[in-house]
Amino acid sequence: MIALSLAEIAAVVGGQTYDIPDPSVQVTGPVVRDSREVVPGSLFVAFRGERVDGHDFAPAVVAAGAAAVLASRPVGVPAIVVEDVQTALGALARHVVTKLGATLVGLTGSAGKTSTKDLIAQVLQRKAPTVFTPGSLNNEIGLPLTALSATEETKFLVLEMGARGIGHIRYLTELTPPRIGLVLNVGSAHIGEFGGREQIAQAKGELVESLPSAAEGGVAVLNADDPYVRAMASRTKAKVVLFGEADEADVRAENVRLTDSGQPAFRLHTPSGASDVTMRLYGEHHVSNALAAAAVAHELGMSAEEIATALSEAGSLSRWRMEVTERPDGVTIVNDAYNANPESMKAALRALVAMGKGRRTWAVLGKMAELGDEALAEHDAVGRLAVRLNVSKLVAVGGREAAWLQLGAYNEGSWGEESVHVSDAQAAVDLLRSELRPGDVVLVKASRSVGLESVAQALLETG
Ligand code: ATP
Ligand code: MG
Repeated sequence: MIALSLAEIAAVVGGQTYDIPDPSVQVTGPVVRDSREVVPGSLFVAFRGERVDGHDFAPAVVAAGAAAVLASRPVGVPAIVVEDVQTALGALARHVVTKLGATLVGLTGSAGKTSTKDLIAQVLQRKAPTVFTPGSLNNEIGLPLTALSATEETKFLVLEMGARGIGHIRYLTELTPPRIGLVLNVGSAHIGEFGGREQIAQAKGELVESLPSAAEGGVAVLNADDPYVRAMASRTKAKVVLFGEADEADVRAENVRLTDSGQPAFRLHTPSGASDVTMRLYGEHHVSNALAAAAVAHELGMSAEEIATALSEAGSLSRWRMEVTERPDGVTIVNDAYNANPESMKAALRALVAMGKGRRTWAVLGKMAELGDEALAEHDAVGRLAVRLNVSKLVAVGGREAAWLQLGAYNEGSWGEESVHVSDAQAAVDLLRSELRPGDVVLVKASRSVGLESVAQALLETG
């Protein structure tokens, strides 16, 4: 964080200081909510959770060197006391980002936020110091904490923004107002909570509504291939930059293909030139993510060659997203158990088949959560796609949704033995342990709540 005195922080958040002998003491950072991350000079933010109350850790964090605690009541050690800790954290983040010289890039979308954020960070890092959301910390607490981790050297601050309803993104953009706003796609993630795709588009579009005008440098980076996203062009004063495979996209991919190892390759066109990209990430959906990252990097002054090189060398920074591991016996495990929605399920199946050419392919799939009324149809469609793509075996794991996956496969191709329905992760592991043969490729994927990474891990441990 940029150094701020306790007095300045108290003024910014409208808090009262307690037990602070010297208000000119500087907080040098980081700002943390986990007491184990406290180092000398930290500001510890005390949240009251359901099980633990951060306030209980106040004496310990101060003993560990924290300059003070941001708290909702006096705690007997140096504290800035506010009515609402979350609001105060947001106010502090807003204060700090306006003092920073960094360009803020905000991104949202139904699928691929973290993957794209990681790509953008790896591309921009080549040009100048970049701070970005760690993992998927994209909510009203993770976002300000990330922003507060920026320093005087930071030139680019890349922020993943998540939404579970109308108004969420607007709130996040008020805390950390981006100059560049990127919307990836409007899919069916969380459609149950939102109530429909129109509502999702409404919510995600709040990002481009928040941007400064074109004259002030605002840039809206929009997916030309997604009609809901493209339509957001009319909701912004910012300059609009389109990316995608559509001809009229400003940043385009040509000759998109999957290499024999299942990695996407394409020719990248930006308004400043063209250059070839072969990605290290798996799955054709990363083409769209890469183009989005390229559009942002182009706007920030990078050449097509620089961007293409960075994209070709970029790896995954986040766990359990198409993590490919080869076992000593030649079985390949593709762990994509981080999360799933209909779009990512389909993309992962296509990657599995490209990777598994001439080999036996297994799709070990579980439920896609939060689909509301579309749940049955979407699981059915994934089961059917497995058949059409000629996946060798479908292992559907879990309850009702797994049954729908299997039913889709049955209805599409009269699949009997090719698909199995097992009740839980352990049953899937037992089945695979006895059935896998050298050379097989296994994709493991479901929504986060299913926890299918345990299957991938067990298969890797036992070899
Ligand atoms: P979350 O809402 O959980 O933060 P996210 O939007 O950050 O998710 P990622 O974590 O990048 O998304 O990816 C989630 C899943 O979607 C992964 O399985 C990934 O393979 C897949 N995915 C990534 N990019 C796309 C895309 N452009 N279209 C569809 N699926 C994608
Ligand atoms: Mg994410």
